[in-house]
Amino acid sequence: MERKDSKHSLAAEVPPALRPGREFVHALALSQAAVVSSRQKLSATSRADAVRRFIAWSLARLRESSADFADVEHGNDGELGIWLELPRSQREKFGGSTRVRLRLDALNEIVPADDEMPGDLSRPQQAVLPWLIQQLGEAQVITHAVPWAQPASVHEIAKDLFAAYQVDGGTMHLAGCTLEDRVILGLTYRYRVNKTQPNERDVAVFIAPDGALIDDATVAALGLHDRRVITQPPRIHPEELIRLVEVIRQNGDRVRDRELARDGHVAGDGTDLRRVSCELRSGVFIWCKYAEGKIQFDFGDESTSVPFSGWARVVRPQPFHCPYTGVASYHIAQTDDGRIVAADEIETCQLSGRRVLRDELVECAVSGLRVAAELAEACPVTELHVLPEHMVECPMCRQRVAPASLEQGQCATCRSRQRADRDDERLVRILGHYPMLVDWGDVRLSESLTTYNLTISRRLQRLMLVLDKATLAPLHAASARRWSNTWSPLTVDELTDALS
Ligand SMILES: [Zn+2]
Repeated sequence: MERKDSKHSLAAEVPPALRPGREFVHALALSQAAVVSSRQKLSATSRADAVRRFIAWSLARLRESSADFADVEHGNDGELGIWLELPRSQREKFGGSTRVRLRLDALNEIVPADDEMPGDLSRPQQAVLPWLIQQLGEAQVITHAVPWAQPASVHEIAKDLFAAYQVDGGTMHLAGCTLEDRVILGLTYRYRVNKTQPNERDVAVFIAPDGALIDDATVAALGLHDRRVITQPPRIHPEELIRLVEVIRQNGDRVRDRELARDGHVAGDGTDLRRVSCELRSGVFIWCKYAEGKIQFDFGDESTSVPFSGWARVVRPQPFHCPYTGVASYHIAQTDDGRIVAADEIETCQLSGRRVLRDELVECAVSGLRVAAELAEACPVTELHVLPEHMVECPMCRQRVAPASLEQGQCATCRSRQRADRDDERLVRILGHYPMLVDWGDVRLSESLTTYNLTISRRLQRLMLVLDKATLAPLHAASARRWSNTWSPLTVDELTDALS
């Protein structure tokens, strides 16, 4: 984990002059022939400093790798100038000169605006930096490369992506797919705690375009070690380059902090950070194919798609997210009413034979058949789903119920009436609707999902009322003698008479 809080970062304690990467940043900018410095609005002095450091760094690298440069010297030529010697083998390119001078306050003029490298060598002012960058490339200090093996077209990756999906009754194809070159930076630093002790080591890291360090497994999967140098790299958009510059700048600090931590140093432990250096030694721009697009699934007039994105060598197909069930799946099919869904969520109604979503089926509590919910009735007493032909009528309240709710000729609602007080909210509502019931007493009340079920008494008469819960309309009425359990159904007229 990288710590973002600079208060706890060793980087915050390191003098700016020792932060690594700066020279490479300029090599990066210059090697891409982008006018980064002018965009950054550097002062002439800091621009001159930047180029001076870059030249010093470049010559140091070239001296290490090429005998030609072994004795090449350079030095300041006033505040805004620099001179450098040319190796014998290179002098002819500069008209036989042994050394060249550069005016560093005219950087924009000496950075070529196009890809023509190394520029017009007859004009040293314009030619020296491009030439130097070319030398760095030839010495493999700064190079561009591509992995030996990576997909060259979207169709090469499409085959693998398609293989992940099973599409029942439909087809799939690529839609809106691009394959573009994106750069992964391979940077090698020399980490040294104390110049007088031989405890230096080289540290190689790979950085993704977003600045994240790439782990070893991904480095292997992308083939970043197994690469070949290219001489005509893709252009980097100036905005992207400025972003990369910032990534490299931050990475230098990050590598140094990581190595310090690996050596057991922690912030504030008294380590003399001025003796710690982490110098960038070489860098390679590795151009990797990045794929982005979507796979479209067509079922007649209906279609859906699944996006994918990633490095082409390792891009993985993403599962289809079923919008109806929320299930992620690589197996896709269509219901009979045309919805594109996760295939494993489809089930066939055992009554109609229609293919619908599993959670749209209910199990008939009597037959055990799994059927579309609209084909079954819901018992208002037990909430069980039952096919209409298996529903029964309660002999007492005459409501259609599941057989399981009947016991001794009564449904559970009829069996569970309880004495209700006058302040029972349900009774208040019923009496509000039927004021003629106010005179009646001994109220016993129960309810199902859809009905109120009550008995009331007056003198020697008892009434049973089954009312629609929503409208309070009477669904069934019956009367009985006060002490009898024999109920006689009432017509609407008889009910009206009984209540009057
Ligand atoms: Zn009943």
